[in-house]
Amino acid sequence: MQGIELLIDLVRMARHGIAFTGAGISTESGIPDFRSPGGIWTRHQPVLYADFLAHRPARIQGWKLAAGMFLESRTTRPNDGHRAIAELERRGHLAAVITQNIDGLHRDAGSSTVIELHGTNRVVRCQYCGREWPTEDIVERWQVGDEAPECSDCNGPLKTATISFGQSMPEEEMRLAADATQRAELFLAIGSSLVVEPAASFPRVAKRNGASLVIINREPTPLDEIADLVIREPIGKTMNALMQGLGYFNDA
Ligand code: NAD
Repeated sequence: MQGIELLIDLVRMARHGIAFTGAGISTESGIPDFRSPGGIWTRHQPVLYADFLAHRPARIQGWKLAAGMFLESRTTRPNDGHRAIAELERRGHLAAVITQNIDGLHRDAGSSTVIELHGTNRVVRCQYCGREWPTEDIVERWQVGDEAPECSDCNGPLKTATISFGQSMPEEEMRLAADATQRAELFLAIGSSLVVEPAASFPRVAKRNGASLVIINREPTPLDEIADLVIREPIGKTMNALMQGLGYFNDA
């Protein structure tokens, strides 16, 4: 595979590497990404946060999408890509994984420092009082006809703890991601189209601060031209080749 030797060398030397992942890392677990043909946005219109708060029909539409995604992804398991990232953290090469994903699969794979820039769909939060529930509980209500569930304490609108369009980015996660990126000597952008801001700014900042930037994505991205290495191969195949090259087994 072209570039794999350089990738192996860069990871072998890394002591504060960062993995930065997008929807592409979870497609091999069966969760579609947003922009590939057949991806979620080719089938659904996203709901803006302000509309979700203001209008019940938007909440009904938002819940159809959120509950559908949750039910589809409930039985999914981490794949070789997630497992490799967790193992590279355990072995001391990666300091954190910054993810745009909301599916929780990095934690399931055993990664311990996971910065979820766009939140998680495993938790539902009241948009007024902040009370939280496991998503399972609220989706059960949705399945028996509660199309736009409300908080049992304050009647506020309930929403998965994910960042919707038009909603502010979470301050603490942005700060943690910025800190980790500043200190990165190696930045692996894996399975992201790198077009969603501000998330896509992290690889640029890492590069500017002297990190080696590697992009593993089957399609070109706008940052390919500033990367030190671009591998346009499936993620599982690439990460397995990396783990083999390092002499680690990716069977955690
Ligand atoms: P994206 O859909 O814009 O881009 C995914 C990229 O991954 C594409 O360029 C695609 O070519 C590539 N890709 C897909 N499968 C691949 C594979 N097996 N090997 C190599 N490359 C592969 O995703 P994004 O950049 O993460 O941005 C979309 C937004 O959608 C994010 O904000 C994210 O929160 C959200 N999202 C999350 C999930 C999830 O949690 N699993 C799923 C869909 C969307």
